[in-house]
This record gives sequence, structure tokens and C-alpha cells, in this order.
Amino acid sequence: MKIALIAHDHKKDDMVALAREFAGFLGRCELVATGTTGGRLQAEAGLAVECLLSGPLGGDLQIGARLSVGGVDAVIFLRDPMTPQPHEPDINALVRACDVHNVPCATNLASARCLLREFSRGTPDSSAPA
Ligand code: PGA
Repeated sequence: MKIALIAHDHKKDDMVALAREFAGFLGRCELVATGTTGGRLQAEAGLAVECLLSGPLGGDLQIGARLSVGGVDAVIFLRDPMTPQPHEPDINALVRACDVHNVPCATNLASARCLLREFSRGTPDSSAPA
């Protein structure tokens, strides 16, 4: 599975904690992230992540473009609803692209857990004994 991960600044600690919680599953996925989020996931959750541009510099749009051509299966996008973002149009474009292309998009921690729990059920750990 190809999963895109994005977290606004006040949600990055939550994203790292979520990634640690689901590290077993995420470690078997292809991960792509906006720049700062990806850097933290590599450093603090030990995951291999392709880092794109930082969100405010176009990273959200890069992810939207990829998922529009089938390159992303799910998006975890921990948004901060309490802080205005300079790249609000890009954020809306990414969420819209998810809706246009019917790609699951979790925008808060609770929905992210539901999504990851469900997907991790479908992909057995290949290193586990049969
Ligand atoms: P960042 O981008 O991971 O580079 O901080 C996220 C965002 O703010 O959209």
C-alpha cells in the first residue's frame, strides 16, 4: 500500500506517536510525506519515507497530483483546525482530490486510527510465523 502522511505543525507530535503505534504496518507500506512531517517520521519513528516539498511550499499539491493518477492509496492528514495556514488553498485542493478520486483521507487522529487499523488487518505481517 502507498500511504501519504501530512501533519500541520501542532499535530506533528500526534503523527509521530501514531506512526510509532502502527510502525509494524507502516513499515510494510510505501510512505510519502510532506517535507517536515517526513523528516520527523524518519528520525523519530524509524520509518523509510519519501519526503516531498514542505506543505507550504507545494508538498500538499505534489501529493494531490500523485493520488490523482493512482499513486496513493490512502492519506493521513492531521490538520490543525485552530491555526490559519498560509497554504489553505493547497490543503483544500488535496482534500478535494481525495474526494474526486475516492481515496480514503483521515483528517484527525481518531479517523486515522480507524483507517490504519482496518488496512493493517488486510496485510498480514510477512515476517510473522504462518
Ligand atoms: P510539512 O507540511 O510536513 O512540511 O510541515 C505540512 C503542511 O503544513 O501542510
